[in-house]
Amino acid sequence: MSSPTRVFHRQLHKPMLFAVSGQGITLTDQAGKTYLDASGGAAVSCLGHGHPDVVAAMHAQIDQLAYAHTSFFTTEVAEELANVLIDTAPAGMSHVYFVSGGSEAVEAALKMARQYFVEIGQPQRRHFIARRQSYHGNTLGALAVGGNAWRREQFKPLLIDVTHVSPCYEYRDRRTDETAEQYGQRLVAELSGAIDRLGGENVMAFVAETVGGATAGVLTPVPGYFKAVRELCDRHGILLILDEVMCGMGRTGTLHACEQEGVTPDLMTIAKGLGGGYQPIGAVLAQGRVVDAFRQGSGLFQHGHTYLGHAIACAAALAVQRVIQRDGLLEQVRERGQQLETLLQQAFGDHPHVGDLRGRGLFRGIELVADRGSKQWFDPARKLHARIKSEAMASGLMVYPMGGTVDGRCGDHVLLAPPFISTPAELEEIVARLAGAIDRAVAA
Ligand code: PMP
Repeated sequence: MSSPTRVFHRQLHKPMLFAVSGQGITLTDQAGKTYLDASGGAAVSCLGHGHPDVVAAMHAQIDQLAYAHTSFFTTEVAEELANVLIDTAPAGMSHVYFVSGGSEAVEAALKMARQYFVEIGQPQRRHFIARRQSYHGNTLGALAVGGNAWRREQFKPLLIDVTHVSPCYEYRDRRTDETAEQYGQRLVAELSGAIDRLGGENVMAFVAETVGGATAGVLTPVPGYFKAVRELCDRHGILLILDEVMCGMGRTGTLHACEQEGVTPDLMTIAKGLGGGYQPIGAVLAQGRVVDAFRQGSGLFQHGHTYLGHAIACAAALAVQRVIQRDGLLEQVRERGQQLETLLQQAFGDHPHVGDLRGRGLFRGIELVADRGSKQWFDPARKLHARIKSEAMASGLMVYPMGGTVDGRCGDHVLLAPPFISTPAELEEIVARLAGAIDRAVAA
């Protein structure tokens, strides 16, 4: 059966719902049915929908100037947004490169890493190391560093060769005879082994999501892991690229998730919450030394897209970031995150089919298991994650399901990323509807 819509979507065999309007944390479809947007789309809509300040800022920018190509001009609004981002970035990050989304940000960061080493006279560095069970985007470079076997499979012949090491997946991979710290050290030893095999002088960068998102339902790093990764990279002159497209821009309770790890990357990708979905925008935040190498070398970054630094996208993102600052929303994410954690614990702490609840701030993952004791997953043929999504949608709730085979591992996960403006009552309603959806999906 083909979809009646003419727009070519990912799903071709299911009729699409039409989203007609959005207000606050609610979206409305063509039949007038409303949905609580508990996943912010895909961890995007941090201010919910229809925020008047963002809408007004976009209107004002349209009236003034919609677009000017960056080979001719920068704009005041792009520079202002860059100032806001640099003023709030970890020390040492001095420049911003604007793109239109997460995959573009990752592609740009990979190319920055390569050009950096060419500029400083180390052209032999041509390897990236990344992690299994990660997601960095769907363009070819981003897909190559990503570790989601299912997404990569048919495109493998087109992908650059990337070495993948284990992700930080404490619930599944920490042995009972080791502490969280020891587990982290074991992962860093594995990374160190991979670097040694490639030759430290041949590696450009290690790429990782600070908090994993779209692959295994929110993977939080264990204490000390990223500090040790940073030290290891420094020892070999390897750049650290942290992908905060999903976990960044306040989602975990600090503007950047890496702040909680006490590390500063050389390059950091951001997107989703940067523009909150009001416009497509992403960015790479870069350490001064990377940009200085370009400046002192060829004088240009050999890359570019037509819509870099789009004025309306920058105006939307600037407004989103100003609202977050003005309304103290980072603090609110921490508070509401705590509340959401408690609600999830109450609803699922003893649930026979919830193996793990994890996350930070308003970024939460739920891992479903057939059996809690053995941590055995449900049969993937049941597509439990997809059933949960359908049951949730039927009860007016949007959640982000994950499942399928990931590097030989299966699993059903639900990701929650509600808007920062969600009220305590809305969070209660989200968890109540989700509990119903999970129980109905498991029973089906
Ligand atoms: N990196 C991460 C960590 C992501 O979660 C995503 C999107 N889910 C991307 C990159 C790709 O972003 P986009 O879909 O905007 O291209």
